[in-house]
Amino acid sequence: MKPLTSMTASALSTLLQAKEISSVELTNAFLQQIESRDCEIGAYLTVCAASALQTAASIDKRRANGEKLPALSGIPMAIKDNICTRGIRTTCASKMLSDYVPPYSATVYSRLMQNGAVLLGKLNMDEFAMGGSTENSAYHTTRNPHNTAYVPGGSSGGSAAAVAAREAVYTLGSDTGGSVRLPAAFCGAVGLRPTYGRVSRYGLVAYACSLDQVGIVTKDIRDNALVLQTIAGYDANDFTSSSAEIPDYTAVLGRGISGLRIGVPKDVFSQTVQSDVKQVVACALEKLESMGAELVELPYAIPELALQAYYILALAEASCNLARYDGVRYGYRAEAAEDLQCMYRLTRSEGFGSEVKRRILVGAYLLGESQKTAYYDKALQVRRQVGLFFDKSFAMCDLILTPTSPTAAYRIGEQSEDLAVKLGMDCYTVPASLAGIPALSVPCGITAEGLPIGMQLTAPAFCESLLYRVAYAYEREVGNGTV
Ligand code: GLN
Repeated sequence: MKPLTSMTASALSTLLQAKEISSVELTNAFLQQIESRDCEIGAYLTVCAASALQTAASIDKRRANGEKLPALSGIPMAIKDNICTRGIRTTCASKMLSDYVPPYSATVYSRLMQNGAVLLGKLNMDEFAMGGSTENSAYHTTRNPHNTAYVPGGSSGGSAAAVAAREAVYTLGSDTGGSVRLPAAFCGAVGLRPTYGRVSRYGLVAYACSLDQVGIVTKDIRDNALVLQTIAGYDANDFTSSSAEIPDYTAVLGRGISGLRIGVPKDVFSQTVQSDVKQVVACALEKLESMGAELVELPYAIPELALQAYYILALAEASCNLARYDGVRYGYRAEAAEDLQCMYRLTRSEGFGSEVKRRILVGAYLLGESQKTAYYDKALQVRRQVGLFFDKSFAMCDLILTPTSPTAAYRIGEQSEDLAVKLGMDCYTVPASLAGIPALSVPCGITAEGLPIGMQLTAPAFCESLLYRVAYAYEREVGNGTV
């Protein structure tokens, strides 16, 4: 038998149901793995060993009493540290929230707990989810398990690294402009950004509300579908959550892809795409064609200014959202201040890291009266263009395929100076974010240095099933990537 830590949730669920293993045994295996591996990887900010074992023991007891439990019961997982967990520190990898213990839980976390999930701990990230490498954490940099000299991607770097390093069976992250898909690609895992509104954002600490979504990182496609099944659905606490019917996501797996039309945007490789990435993604396209899909060369290119529009909107929203960290109600407070103004200033200067401060300043500038028409309103227009690009494209194809990012993981520290290159990493992921539609990063090969490469599938709103169907067929054909 494979080591327990390298098995999928669905395989472990079968073993648990057959009582061949217990959840306590499984949880201990993961806690040991974290103990031995995480000093090198740094995926976790908080490990909840005692409460994890307690939950596991209670699940084992219920199972022993003959109770029929949901598929994810007794399976150890971990959650990005910007998702509120009642009674457990939630820092957003910021000094601002280093002691913050939320008095309530995010809906996604509550739903997982109601389904018997075992929480191993909270995962590292770029501070307030701003970044793409996890180098912006106020605590430490997470390392890529495939090569620890490289970044794991971000901002959900801890979420992807934990899955790749076998320190959790699956994880939750958040994706505003690509923060689940990018690290999943860099670490050789599967990463979903669901349709906006498919999953509740209640209890997800806000970065840019019109773009934020909770996402899922797993070893394979079936696990991803299982987790989405558990967390999807309407939530009275999030008025942007949708009451659209939730399909049975695993039912479509194995249906094959014959006749499905896969669109490739015009000039999609003309950006500065690494040659390994080009080759591997082209190979995946050929493979899908040989499996019966029809490839469609779309006459439309991804709108050129999508990336710029994303950064304008995200920063404008962030500057408003982060105004609440002022030292008054909760979070860090500078003690040395003499008066209120000084307290605000010192608290925010000391509590936020430099990337977060830069974004708050730029965001506030962009919302200034004279800048609003020049930038913010224009960005909204580009956002509409992006929606139109997808509408026109989906009239000609069922789903769209691109690389997840122009390059594979880069060395830690390598891009810190080059802002344009760094932001350019999001060029393929931000369009789906702006349009609010679902996208899935699927491992599809490795570079000459052995670093994972991901391809991104994008579908119309609420068509996650279609993404899973195609990705599952591909995974069955080529094996499940590099995790
Ligand atoms: N890298 C992007 C940014 O910094 C995406 C972040 C995210 O999705 N949370 O805004």
